[in-house]
Amino acid sequence: MSERCRLCGRLAARLEGDYCSARCRELAGSYASPSHAAAALAAPATACQATLLVTGPLPPALPAGCAPIGRTGARQLLRLGADGWDDLDAAIEEIAGACGEDAVEVFTLQHFAGGGLAPATPLREATA
Ligand SMILES: [Zn+2]
Repeated sequence: MSERCRLCGRLAARLEGDYCSARCRELAGSYASPSHAAAALAAPATACQATLLVTGPLPPALPAGCAPIGRTGARQLLRLGADGWDDLDAAIEEIAGACGEDAVEVFTLQHFAGGGLAPATPLREATA
């Protein structure tokens, strides 16, 4: 009867110490799932959400609805939620004001409706 490798899940006729191969045993010893801040995994609780990439130190006080969720290279990722685009814009500007315009890059902008992401229709009129 075949058993499954504890790392890759492959059915193997013969396992050595729960693993199908020396490679899987070696990887199992060194691999750890990446850990995420709880705020990174929380379901969206606001209609609008942004993810920001921030270079350099974060401001001591972050706007409401804003939480650090991780880092990539030298940059920190912030998750930012607001009930509308105007509030979200204001919070992004607050962070950009504290960190410097060049230090803040908007990585994602999302709009949620009941049940998930809002349909991809134009959300705001362009103002020229
Ligand atoms: Zn395996």
